[in-house]
Amino acid sequence: MNRPTNRPTGHDVILALNAGSSSLKFVVFAAQDGDSALAEGLVDRIGSDAASIRLRDGAGADLPVAEGRPADHAAALQLALDSLSAALPDARVVAVGHRVVHGGTTFRGPVIVDEPVMAQIEALRPFAPLHQPHNIAGIRAAMAAFPGVPQIACFDTAFHRTHPWVNDTFALPSSFYDEGVRRYGFHGLSYDYITSELHRIAPLIAAGRVVIAHLGNGASMCAVQNGRSVASTMGFTALDGLPMGTRSGQLDPGVVLYLMDQRGMTTAEVRRLLYEKSGLLGLSGGLSNDMRTLESAATPEAQQAIDYFVFRIQRELGAMAAAMGGIDALVFCGGIGENSRLIRARVCERTEWMGLEIDHGRNDRNETIISSDVSRGHVMVIPTNEGLVIARAARDLLNLGGSTT
Ligand code: AMP
Repeated sequence: MNRPTNRPTGHDVILALNAGSSSLKFVVFAAQDGDSALAEGLVDRIGSDAASIRLRDGAGADLPVAEGRPADHAAALQLALDSLSAALPDARVVAVGHRVVHGGTTFRGPVIVDEPVMAQIEALRPFAPLHQPHNIAGIRAAMAAFPGVPQIACFDTAFHRTHPWVNDTFALPSSFYDEGVRRYGFHGLSYDYITSELHRIAPLIAAGRVVIAHLGNGASMCAVQNGRSVASTMGFTALDGLPMGTRSGQLDPGVVLYLMDQRGMTTAEVRRLLYEKSGLLGLSGGLSNDMRTLESAATPEAQQAIDYFVFRIQRELGAMAAAMGGIDALVFCGGIGENSRLIRARVCERTEWMGLEIDHGRNDRNETIISSDVSRGHVMVIPTNEGLVIARAARDLLNLGGSTT
C-alpha cells in the first residue's frame, strides 16, 4: 500500500487494526465515507511456525496473500500490507485506527495518538497486562510503517464511562476506587456500533432500555438506556461476568484465595486457569471453547457447558434489566449471538416474565427482529462491526468528510 503524499486521491483509505496477543485483524475502509469494508483480513498465530494470513474482499471472497511467517506485530503488519498492496494497488493510507482495550478514566472517546497520549496508554498497562501491550505493539508498528500518518486510538472502555457510580465501583475501601480499581466494562466498540445501528434502523427502540448481549469467544452484556451505557457485566478486567470461550467469568474472589493459599498455585498459574482453561473449554471437560463444536457434540459435558452459558446469560439479563428498571429490547451480537439459533432460543426460554418472547421461525431464519408479534419487548439480531466504529472515529477526528452515520 502507498504511503501518503499531500495530494488527495479517490483511493484514500483508513486502516483499522485490532492487535491481539498473537493475532492482528485489519479492515480497510474508504477514507471519506461508506460503511462497507474494501478488504479485511487476519494474521494469526504471530510468532509461531504455524503463522498464517487470510484476506477477503468487501464481499467476503478470499483473496491471494503474500508469503511470510511473522515473528512479531511489526512483521505481521508488513505481511498484511504486502497482501493488501496486491488487492488494493492504488490505496493510500491516510489514517490508521486502533482498538485499544483500556482507556482508564482518562479516555472517554477516541483520540489522535501523540507521544503524551502514548505515555498515558502505556501507563494503563498494569490494568490490562494481557491486552494493552499488544495494542501498543500494534500502534508502534503502524507508526513505523506509516510515518506522519495520524494514528487514532479507540478504547473499549470509553463507551462505559457514563456508568453511575454504583455501577462503576467495587465495595472496597474508597482509596482503591481513587487509584483506578473500578468496573470499567469492555466490548465498548461493539456496543457503540450496535447502539448507532439501532438508532438508525429503530430510533424509538434505541431511545428506550436496551440490553445488548455480545456473545463471542469473549462475551459480555451491557445495559444501554437512551443510547448511554449504565451497566455492564465486565468489570476491572475482561474476566468478569459471563463465562466465555476459555475465561471463567464471574467468580467468588474467595476461590482465588483458596487456590493460592490451600492449593499453592502461583499468580501465573491462577491467571492461566482463569483466562485460558476455564469457561466453555473447562466446563466441557477440555472438549472445546468453540460453540459450534459444543453444539454438535453429544457429550454430557458439552451439554453442561451450554447449560451454564445460557443460565448465566439469563441471570445477567435480569441484572441488566434491573439496572434500568425494565427492558424494551434485547439485542444479540458477536459470533454466537449472530449465528447460534440454539443459544438465542434457549436464552429466551425464560424471558417471558420480562415481556420478551421469540418467534422460532424468525429466529431460525436469522431475521433482524426475532421476537413474536405479541412480545411486549423486541428481541433482535444485529451483526456487530467494531472496525467501522474505528473508521468513523478517524473520519470524525480528522474531518475526512462524508457521512458518518
Ligand atoms: P467471535 O469471537 O465473535 O468471533 O465468536 C466466536 C464464537 O462464535 C465461537 O464460539 C464460534 O463457535 C461461535 N459461532 C460462530 N458461528 C456459529 C454458528 N453458526 N453456530 C454457533 N456458534 C457459532
